[in-house]
Amino acid sequence: KKFKPGSVFFRLEKNKPGMLLPRKGNVTTPIEVQRKQLPIYHARTRLVNELRQLHNAIVIGETGSGKTTQIPQYLFEAGIGRQGLIAITQPRRVAAISLAARVSEEKRTQLGKLVGYTVRFEDVTSPETKLKFMTDGMLLREAIGDPMLLRYTVVVLDEAHERTVHTDVLFGVVKSAQRRRRELNKIPLKVIVMSATMDVDLFSEYFNKSPVLYLEGRQHPIQIYYTKQPQSDYLQAALVSVFQIHQEAPQSHDILVFMTGQEEIEALARTCRDIAKHLPDSCGPMVVIPLYASLPPAQQLRVFQPAPKGCRKVILATNIAETSVTISGIKYVIDTGMVKAKRFNPGESGLEVLAVQRVSKAQAWQRAGRAGREDAGFCYRLYTEQEFDNLIPTTVPEIQRCNLAGVMLQLMALGIPDVMNFDFMSKPSPEAVRSAVEHLELLGAVERKDAQVLLTALGKRMASFPLEPRYAKTILLSADFSCSEEILSIVSLLSVDTVLFNPSARRDEVLAARKKFTSSEGDHMTLLNIYRAFKKVGGNKEWCRENFVNSRNMGLVKDVQAQLREICLKLNLKLESCGADTGNVRRCLAHGMFINAAELQPDGSYLALDTHQAVAIHPSSVLFQAKPAYVVFNELLHTSRCYMRDLCLVDADWLLDAAPEYFGRKLHLTRS
Ligand code: ADP
Ligand code: MG
Repeated sequence: KKFKPGSVFFRLEKNKPGMLLPRKGNVTTPIEVQRKQLPIYHARTRLVNELRQLHNAIVIGETGSGKTTQIPQYLFEAGIGRQGLIAITQPRRVAAISLAARVSEEKRTQLGKLVGYTVRFEDVTSPETKLKFMTDGMLLREAIGDPMLLRYTVVVLDEAHERTVHTDVLFGVVKSAQRRRRELNKIPLKVIVMSATMDVDLFSEYFNKSPVLYLEGRQHPIQIYYTKQPQSDYLQAALVSVFQIHQEAPQSHDILVFMTGQEEIEALARTCRDIAKHLPDSCGPMVVIPLYASLPPAQQLRVFQPAPKGCRKVILATNIAETSVTISGIKYVIDTGMVKAKRFNPGESGLEVLAVQRVSKAQAWQRAGRAGREDAGFCYRLYTEQEFDNLIPTTVPEIQRCNLAGVMLQLMALGIPDVMNFDFMSKPSPEAVRSAVEHLELLGAVERKDAQVLLTALGKRMASFPLEPRYAKTILLSADFSCSEEILSIVSLLSVDTVLFNPSARRDEVLAARKKFTSSEGDHMTLLNIYRAFKKVGGNKEWCRENFVNSRNMGLVKDVQAQLREICLKLNLKLESCGADTGNVRRCLAHGMFINAAELQPDGSYLALDTHQAVAIHPSSVLFQAKPAYVVFNELLHTSRCYMRDLCLVDADWLLDAAPEYFGRKLHLTRS
């Protein structure tokens, strides 16, 4: 490996026997001792001395070395940046919450006091807060009101290697904040970029050749296995591997399986639990723990708890366990080689798609690395060595594969006039920018004057919501349709992940329970019916269980709605309910979501009207059988086909009313 000149190395002490974090069954080591056992601890003084002098630094270190939990504390304990707050950004809310919880525990304070967190729709901070964990998206939102980020003295952009679109935009925002604060003689802003991977040249170049601090990690050897044949069903392969290991390996060795999303994780968790029940006693018990972004916080923390003595822990996780959270005790990693990620091709399809796709080599190595943190480990790749060789080397930054409309709206609200010339670390393609401008123009958020693209008054109002532009637009429109209460409910329901349980083993029961809420008008209206019923019974737990409703997430919906309502009140939006007249709700959805409309074809298939792409109704939709002539949908999920999810039945006329010119030009849609 080659290192940049001017790099600083910190050789971290190799784990001595007995220095391991407590294994299950042992007495728990006091948390102060745990902190001192972390590899980073010995480099602490030198690290702090370096960071004290530097305005910009890149910190590289093996996952689990203690970067995220320790460096902010070291800075605080050394009195660095005391005049303001230290922000630590995370790409995912789960990570922000669990890390804040951990650090506040290490500091023996109550969460929300010295150490707090801010994620979308949830702010657990107070005037005392000095260490603030937050999602990158939230810091970006704060920048809209405070482009110089004056509340902060240190910003730590963590998990930079993930290159989420928000982190990428933040690179530019913090760089410009640093410069402007210097020009205006304000308290300087220290920016620390942390990454788990070695390729940091881009980061260093971008931040004026800033020094790189390497935390040279200890990594134990990991034996990698590949399948002999390509696997057609990676879930089946994962299941077989879990039980093969379970039957052969000592009980104290835990297993971590990398999968793509909540639904398949929950399904596999159930299957594993079922099978485990019927194994011979010689196998020993197993606990199966899911880990994905939308899991409620209390359940997220379960992955860190040691399994009961003599019980094997099997964690089924998304790519969140790649680098952002570290779980001790993992000896076996099973890598399906798949990940669910955004894909967007402005030229071809124009619509952003969530697709299950192959990981990059860098991701595959990160996954394997999880097995070798405390001792030698094993990684089972459920693909062939040749398939591995064909993986792309590193993941393409999200900014180059997502719909930029939301980011552009935020950048314009930030007062950045010429988005194309924004100081991006990796520039999005001109087509993607053009496509985003078109999207915003269709929504009325921007207008062109001469060669310039300007934010409209509507666009400014839309940027007030922490939502995708089309949802913001739909809320703003809802006042005209006298159905704001309903639209706020629907948008809130769509903003928290799945409020419904769909256990596949109890499919018939689920269908029977759902029947009374099912609306022939589509999934939005069905969700609204369930939410109304939920409120009517006062969130009764028994009712939730009977109806396969996730009571916790439903509770969150109420919080989200309250916050969205507050924004509406600030914007002087009229809040009304349309009662039983739900036609208005659908009209409003048609007007807000017309870009995501699809039309039934004579052969029974659907065509997305914006892009003329063939799409299908997802089997989970209540409209799956009905096949209405026109629908609007929330998102596209690409698995075996391109599926529309969460649909609403609409009239062609409403779409025409919403955007006459667009539909006239694009689709030759005519009035019925
Ligand atoms: P890095 O950022 O370098 O990947 P972290 O600072 O996240 O490392 O993790 C350091 C250590 O703290 C790990 O050993 C991890 O197991 C432990 N840790 C982090 N969060 C928690 C938690 N919520 N509960 C228990 N241990 C945790
Ligand atoms: Mg970390």
